[in-house]
Amino acid sequence: MLSTLPPLETDPLWELIRLFKEDKRDHKIDLVIGVYRDESGQTPVFDIVQKAEHWLANNAQSKAYKQLSGNAQFNHHMGQFLLSPDKASAASHCTIQTVGGTGALRVLGDFIHRLSPNATVWNTDPGYINHQPIMEAAGLRVNHFRWQQKEGVLDIESCLSDLSDARRGDILLLHGCCHNPSGIDPTFAQWQAFATFCKNTGVIPLIDMAYQGFGDGPDTDAAGLRWLVSQLDLVLIASSCSKNMGLYCERIGAATIVTKDTAQQTSVRVLLEHIARVNYSMPPDHGAAVAAFVFSHPEQWSAELTQCRLRILTIRQQLGSTLKALGASAELCALAKQKGMFSLLPFSATQMQQLQEKHAIYGTSNGRINIAGLQTHQIRTLANALIDISQW
Ligand code: PMP
Repeated sequence: MLSTLPPLETDPLWELIRLFKEDKRDHKIDLVIGVYRDESGQTPVFDIVQKAEHWLANNAQSKAYKQLSGNAQFNHHMGQFLLSPDKASAASHCTIQTVGGTGALRVLGDFIHRLSPNATVWNTDPGYINHQPIMEAAGLRVNHFRWQQKEGVLDIESCLSDLSDARRGDILLLHGCCHNPSGIDPTFAQWQAFATFCKNTGVIPLIDMAYQGFGDGPDTDAAGLRWLVSQLDLVLIASSCSKNMGLYCERIGAATIVTKDTAQQTSVRVLLEHIARVNYSMPPDHGAAVAAFVFSHPEQWSAELTQCRLRILTIRQQLGSTLKALGASAELCALAKQKGMFSLLPFSATQMQQLQEKHAIYGTSNGRINIAGLQTHQIRTLANALIDISQW
């Protein structure tokens, strides 16, 4: 069997991480991996998570199987967090716990393929590195539409023009907030335009909400999603607690399907559970139990989440103003207005290679840098290096 093993390339992101680890230069800066880091360069365990783990260690009663849809308490809280406490009761939704946001995307990809195998998924260009492979692995076709900034905001005309070939039943894959990799988010009016587009064409939105709370705060970050839910008959959502609870390695996320018609919810749940069953039966409980505890201590969680969000915002603004003061181009300075952990530098793969070789600064070859990986004392070094490389 192994004689037919194809010569696959190693994952480019993990290859870069390996190169960074092997780099002996003391001043090296890692802006590759998409994790939040604090001022000391650590990815901290939230205090509320530690509290949850102590509580679970002392109070958990049993390790018996839970249900196919995972931890019911977690699912309930996640539904409310996404859709807001009041609207969750109005909109009928089914939420099942998944293996991270990635698992949610795959479960939803399988769900779409079961019901509509010829649907095309319309993906942003540039987009999250794993969206296309996940949707293709689920058997779906993927097409792209441009996702770029014009006069400081998303150029929605180019999005809608590229989407003019989308057909009824196709899927519009949007990032709920903090677009990865560009940091370009729609304005609320642009979310309304996407809702109108979906309403008029019968295209179904799939919202990937991997960073809720990292942009402008949990409710503002979900405003676009909630508008879509208020306007449309069907919205699919993949969500994750990797970033906003710092639970990365616990692999905790959820797949949510919101339908106007309550009668459809049982069949939706049964199909989602069936898809989980034939993959991994049911998701592991620990991360979900921790997340359920965190959701039910909103004040402490909110304080810690706000701290992360404000650190990213401050670093972003300081980098933007340093670049401006050093005379960087408007294209480079645009990162000051973007949202969340990432921005996309206007650099070619060769320039990114130069940044790595000459300045020991690591970003991905498509120009993505993780602003949340930067420490205050590194801002000036980075700004100078970016100006140097932009002149190549
Ligand atoms: N979607 C996007 C846009 C992401 O950036 C990520 C994480 N990098 C994910 C989904 C997957 O998140 P998780 O770690 O929860 O699987």
